Order: sequence, then C-alpha cells, then structure tokens
Amino acid sequence: MSIAGGVHTAVERGISIGCTTMQMFVKNNNQWRGKELTDEDISTYKKLLQESSIGPVVVHDTYLINLCATDKQILRKSRAALKDELDRCEMLGVEYLNFHPGSHIGAGEKEGIKRIAESLNIVHDQTRGYGVRSVLETTAGQGTAIGYRFEQLREIIDLVDDAERMAVCVDTCHVFAAGYDIATERGYEKTFKDFDAVIGLGRLAAFHVNDSKREFGSRVDRHEHIGKGAIGKTGFRLLMNDDRFRTIPKILETPKGPEMKEDVKNMRLLRSLVVREDA
Ligand code: ZN
Ligand code: MN
Ligand code: MN
Repeated sequence: MSIAGGVHTAVERGISIGCTTMQMFVKNNNQWRGKELTDEDISTYKKLLQESSIGPVVVHDTYLINLCATDKQILRKSRAALKDELDRCEMLGVEYLNFHPGSHIGAGEKEGIKRIAESLNIVHDQTRGYGVRSVLETTAGQGTAIGYRFEQLREIIDLVDDAERMAVCVDTCHVFAAGYDIATERGYEKTFKDFDAVIGLGRLAAFHVNDSKREFGSRVDRHEHIGKGAIGKTGFRLLMNDDRFRTIPKILETPKGPEMKEDVKNMRLLRSLVVREDA
C-alpha cells in the first residue's frame, strides 16, 4: 500500500478495498533518509488501524539497503537505515519488517551470509527489546542476491545472536524462479516439507503472493498477476487451501495503479480459489 499522504493513508487504502492484512513502506522507498514520523502521524495511524480489521501489518524496507554491501560506506548506511526502519516500525507497533537478505556483489555467498548476520547483530544490539520481528525474504537469486535457497536463510538465522527476533517471508514468485516448483501439487508439498525441515514452519511470518512472469528456475524476479504467469492457478489454489497457512498474512506485490483495481481483481481471484467445506 502506498503511503502518499502519510502512513495512515495506507490503512485507509487497505480498508477501502477490504484487506485483512497489508504491507507498506514507512518512508520513501528509494531514499536513504526519510521525513520523521510525527506524534500525530503515529496516533492517526494507530487509531485507524485499531478500528479496522487489518492485521498483522508488514513493512517492506527501502530498496537501497544491502546488509552485505562490499562498499564500506554503503554498508554503514545500510545498517543505519535498517535501524531507522526498525525504529519506525516500533513506533507504529508494526509486527514485521520484511527485507531482502542482501547481494554479495562478488564477495561470495559465504562471505555475504556472514556479513548479513553481522549487520543484523549490530542493528539488533541497537534496538534491544523491540517487538518488531526481522523478516528475511526468500529471493529469486537474481544477480548476486542471497536467499534463493532455504539453507542460506537458515545459515543467517544460525549466525544471529538473538534468533528469536528472526522470521521468514516466502515470496511465491521468488521461490518459483529460484527452483522450488510450487506450481504442481508434488512440488508444492516438497517445497514446504523442505522449508519445514530447513527453517521450520514456526518461523514463517508472511507470504508475498505473486505469480511469475518468467519460467521455473529462471532466477529472474518479475512479478505477474495471479494466474497469469508461470505458476498459474493450481499453485495458488494449493496455498489458499492450506490449513497450515490459514492465519499467515498473504500480501500481493503484483503490478497496480493508484485506484488499486488490480489488487481487487487479484484478491477476488485468490479468494475464489478457497474451497469452502460448509458449501
Ligand atoms: Zn521484497
Ligand atoms: Mn516480495
Ligand atoms: Mn520480487
């Protein structure tokens, strides 16, 4: 959800199209610095949210952050920016801060994983006692992105001192592009069996529900409207009827315009896939 006009407008937008959960940014998503949240911003947001049926709320971090940047300057800025994101989430009472683990830019995956965990330990130290969870998002593995294998997320979590604060978000487009075939029943079952064995379903905080423009295993991150891409309706039917995930937030990150007609259409389609036992 856009926050153009203030963070509380994301809640208004969510209410207007019947969301039960939502994702937003807490600052401009392509700038290092953001305008401070005022007391009024915070109280208006909280009041609206409380009166709504929306929750939990997921925040996506800004795209500039790279927790394993090789450039010292960018690494320092990334850590400060992540701390700022956590501060904002905490002020707003947001449950989950979702972010991509990082891109190693040639330093190698092992080195990248170590640096990401180091970044998280530093930032967690600066934000002791916060309630907001740090949520690693699965990636498509485009370029030098880390997080396209569940094992990589496991390694990061294992290196984080306060592992209680760590959770994971499964992006359906990303995992499919990364080589987890959620488009078929067999592949879907195997994917979540793997996830449970490697990470544990208890750490699953949210889904990004996106179809994929590109083919299975492409390692390319291009989102498509639900049912219009290479995953197709079968994969989403399996997800929408999976009892294990009934209360896990499912967020759309599909292309959209300011009137959100596309979101309405995608939500309607996803909800229509739910098989009602009482019918
Ligand atoms: Zn993301
Ligand atoms: Mn995503
Ligand atoms: Mn993506």
